Amino acid sequence: MTANPPDHQKDDVNLELTLRPAAWNDYVGQETIKKNLSLLIQAAKERGEPLEHVLLHGPAGLGKTTLAHLVAREMSANIKITSGPAIERVGDLASLLTNLASGDVLFIDEIHRLNKTIEEVLYPAMESRSLDIIIGKGPGARSIQLELPPFTLVAATTRIALLSSPLRSRFSGGTFKLDYYTVEEIEKILTRSSAILGFAITPEALRALATRARFTPRIANRLLKRARDYAQVHKQGAIDENVAEKTLELLGVDHEGLEEVDRQILSVLINKFGGGPVGLNTLAAAASEDIQTIEDVYEPYLLRLGFLERTPRGRVATPQAWRHFGKTPPQTTLL
Ligand code: ADP
Repeated sequence: MTANPPDHQKDDVNLELTLRPAAWNDYVGQETIKKNLSLLIQAAKERGEPLEHVLLHGPAGLGKTTLAHLVAREMSANIKITSGPAIERVGDLASLLTNLASGDVLFIDEIHRLNKTIEEVLYPAMESRSLDIIIGKGPGARSIQLELPPFTLVAATTRIALLSSPLRSRFSGGTFKLDYYTVEEIEKILTRSSAILGFAITPEALRALATRARFTPRIANRLLKRARDYAQVHKQGAIDENVAEKTLELLGVDHEGLEEVDRQILSVLINKFGGGPVGLNTLAAAASEDIQTIEDVYEPYLLRLGFLERTPRGRVATPQAWRHFGKTPPQTTLL
């Protein structure tokens, strides 16, 4: 049910599968979540019951899908994978649910994109393992109730605020927020990844890539892969600092890890609007970017770096952001 990625993304998809930790010990960081999940898993196993439903949220690429796989593995359960936008009709959900075997894990990515009608079918399925569906149309329509096998729903979202509270409240196992990783954690992930790729990397190169990976494992692995390509093409036996720097330069990633679009957003904010405050709509239009992409991809990192602030009147560039562009922040700035 998951849509196929376009050809040019397949390499990265394959790479992601190769590098995805298959064992709990290879999953770096997120210690609190790991402890909580381990406890839930152990308790469920001892009772001989499936794990309760779990909701994972946080920016893209932080390891939500990987966690879902690890949970299934730990429960010795099969995992079925789908996503909110792939479940278009109630029938799609019904067929997914009725095909589950006892103990299976159902992973729904981007659950905030599930439409309301489907969400309502999901409630009784999660709560009492019953599936209420209407068969037929018009006066001949009748409602039937099917009993589902015990299963665990692991859902992921980058936009927890868009989830209705009835849906949120049905994740009885808990809601867990994934945090950005530290540079040290990203270095650990990159060390493992370079060993899997069979390419040596120097400590300086490791640090250079790790500090510019937006604290995100998926991005770190992508940078590593590009650095490997660069080293290979330039006949370098290892990824050293020079290779790492050249790769980052080619990709337009600056020393704070900012990409072209980040710089565009900040530059619009500073140069066109005197640093703000500016409403998100105006900012998105001026930077020629999609509002949702700004909110999901760029803004969280800029907030985290302390380059951007959200105020009730709009987005504001911080003095730090002004200095990043070699400019003196105005005295009147709100911050
Ligand atoms: P999400 O579902 O949150 O978008 P994924 O689980 O798909 O993120 O993670 C993207 C990639 O990043 C994975 O394929 C994996 O290689 C790597 N990754 C994510 N989290 C970790 C982690 N904690 N330890 C090691 N690698 C990780």
